[in-house]
Amino acid sequence: MSIALDLRPARRSIDELRALAERGARELRSGSADEASPAEVVAWVAANVSPRLAAVACSMADAALPHLVAEAIPGVDVLFLDTGYHFLETTFTRDEVARTLDVRIVDVKPAQTVREQDEEFGKDLFSRDPALCCERRKVAPLHQALGGYEVWFTGVRRDEAPTRTNTPVIVFDERNGLIKVNPVASWSFDDLIDYATAHEVVVNPLVANGYPSIGCAPCTRPVAAGEDPRSGRWAGLSKTECGLHL
Ligand code: SF4
Repeated sequence: MSIALDLRPARRSIDELRALAERGARELRSGSADEASPAEVVAWVAANVSPRLAAVACSMADAALPHLVAEAIPGVDVLFLDTGYHFLETTFTRDEVARTLDVRIVDVKPAQTVREQDEEFGKDLFSRDPALCCERRKVAPLHQALGGYEVWFTGVRRDEAPTRTNTPVIVFDERNGLIKVNPVASWSFDDLIDYATAHEVVVNPLVANGYPSIGCAPCTRPVAAGEDPRSGRWAGLSKTECGLHL
């Protein structure tokens, strides 16, 4: 009988990680006029954290963030929230990321399938209580998946929404109990596309078809040129965030 061993090193304590995040914010000059570049932010993490204790969260709108991180941390885990409601194009992008980049895709699944959720809460919970649906299919599964890591990388950008204007490049994430790194916080949408083009990384085909921000299919619609890029998410509702970055 073979036994699969998880060779992931032990995590440091919450206090140690909180202190490391504070040191990172100083050394990376988070929020200042001469803030470290995205590549410098990732390099700092690579120098201070074991590669097995870092993970990238990726919505599969594009592969820029996984590519950027894998340059410094080859083989890094990429967490994909497999909600059961994704566009086919998003699943295609996930498969292309797995095929073309030096990363390990981890499909993070909710406790219930869509069918089981329908049976317990009624069909299409997203249309009646999207906050509960996001909590059950995104926030709680991600929280569980992040246990054991010391750092998670996100693709949050300050220009995406008023709720993201003050995003630091590094901070201790009190809710999830680890360091949260937002290396591309300073990027614009054009910077993102320029990076993807320059490095020939895959971009979700929906982006070129009016979807600058991509979530689950039932909760995402295309937006017109010049419209708020995130206005296609939960359109018609006051909800603007799934809860992962609040
Ligand atoms: S984005 Fe919509 S379908 Fe996806 S988890 Fe949230 S409410 Fe549910």
